[in-house]
Amino acid sequence: MKQMTCAAMGGPATCTEMISGNTAEEMMANGMKHATEAHPEMAADMQKMSPEDMAKWTADLQGKFNALPEAAA
Ligand SMILES: [Zn+2]
Repeated sequence: MKQMTCAAMGGPATCTEMISGNTAEEMMANGMKHATEAHPEMAADMQKMSPEDMAKWTADLQGKFNALPEAAA
């Protein structure tokens, strides 16, 4: 399992909520769930992203995810 703060995933810089996941996809799903609950405006903005922007964001997150150390669960 890996963990990243909401801010590191592109959330508000002040949000230190830890998002975890076994894969980048899982982390993204958990991040979206948190964003929907805690940052509805941001979640709404993300749904308006173009497929190109979303692909870029996904690739970026995948890279960040790969660079993370495994968290001690
Ligand atoms: Zn957050």
